[in-house]
Amino acid sequence: MAYNTQNVFAKIVRGEMPCQVVYEDEEFLAFHDLYKAAPIHILLIPKAPYESFDDFARYAEQASIAKFFQIAQQIAQQEQGLVGGYRLVMNTGHNAGQTVPHFHLHIIGGAKLLEPVSIEEKK
Ligand code: AMP
Repeated sequence: MAYNTQNVFAKIVRGEMPCQVVYEDEEFLAFHDLYKAAPIHILLIPKAPYESFDDFARYAEQASIAKFFQIAQQIAQQEQGLVGGYRLVMNTGHNAGQTVPHFHLHIIGGAKLLEPVSIEEKK
């Protein structure tokens, strides 16, 4: 499926929509989730148009993939509220509940988190 250039994170990368920046360099951007699921909820994205984790892992340069995770770790270390632990989430595709088709890593914490996985009951 072709990358949808009208998705909300693509607009944020192009500066067409605002965000609360946590980290930025030429390749990556991290910002606060607008509808946070916990006291601290940050999203880290590559600026390049990867639709999902699948795409990023498959097509990004090895050095970019490594840098992405190093930045995630640095952000987590800098956030005082995450000293007690945090969760990294990459929803990938429909069944996982990915709603924005631009790869993103959720960095979530600041409170004790409940069990992460629940499945939809079959009707
Ligand atoms: P996912 O459901 O894994 O695709 O995560 C998408 C995330 O993007 C959700 O946690 C939303 O709250 C968040 N989100 C949607 N629109 C915005 C926005 N304009 N700025 C920041 N976060 C957003």
